[in-house]
Amino acid sequence: MQKKLLEIRNLKKYYGKGDSLVKALDDVSFDVYKGEMLVLLGNSGCGKSTLLNIIGGMDSPTEGHVLLSGEDITSLKDKALTKYRKEKIGFIFQFYNLLPDLTALENVRMSLSHRDKEHLSEKTLELVGLGNQKMNQYPSQMSGGEQQRVSIARALVKKADIILCDEPTGALDDKTGRKILELLQDLSRKHGQTLVIVTHTTPIADMANRVITLRDGKIQKERVNEHPKDAKDIVW
Ligand code: ADP
Ligand code: MG
Repeated sequence: MQKKLLEIRNLKKYYGKGDSLVKALDDVSFDVYKGEMLVLLGNSGCGKSTLLNIIGGMDSPTEGHVLLSGEDITSLKDKALTKYRKEKIGFIFQFYNLLPDLTALENVRMSLSHRDKEHLSEKTLELVGLGNQKMNQYPSQMSGGEQQRVSIARALVKKADIILCDEPTGALDDKTGRKILELLQDLSRKHGQTLVIVTHTTPIADMANRVITLRDGKIQKERVNEHPKDAKDIVW
């Protein structure tokens, strides 16, 4: 039996009104199971980022609920919501969103508040393939792929319940992008990390355990991949 980690219930997000009403999300419901790699697939403008931002507690829905391990996060107030974002959720963006004035190590360390930050941050950077010399470099001194590895380490180091990735390969060339997908799949397969990956690139969906396709703010279809492809074999 798979354990439900996240429950998305009748989520709606509307912008504007009258003639200019945009239904970015129009009654979306699904579950995310612990340890799975779920891909949310859909064309530009179908509501992927809106959905991810609501799950991540960075935006609030017009209607509906998001529950993490049974707790309704859509009803959390400021302080509890900040705690949720900081402790429970890891976020990986298309353009990495690293702090430019901090080194790789400092960027990762930032997401921890407890002691033993240094050691754990170093270990995590090693895990994503950024050994010694790279740790003390600034984002501007790193390639896109390296910056994305730092951002993955930043999400990973806090042992987030779930890592949300919004077009994680969108700014990378194919080869580098594939390496990042391999890393994400490794985290899922070897470490049981729960991942939700948003993309508009159809072939990427083949590496997921499950794929939900969105269209115009609604779920269009859902499929289970009995045999997910290895990320290294994905071509786009
Ligand atoms: P995707 O990530 O799939 O490209 P988005 O979630 O960014 O899609 O956007 C979904 C829809 O909501 C689009 O039509 C977009 O224009 C609209 N939208 C997103 N954010 C806003 C906003 N802040 N104000 C008005 N419309 C928005
Ligand atoms: Mg988007």
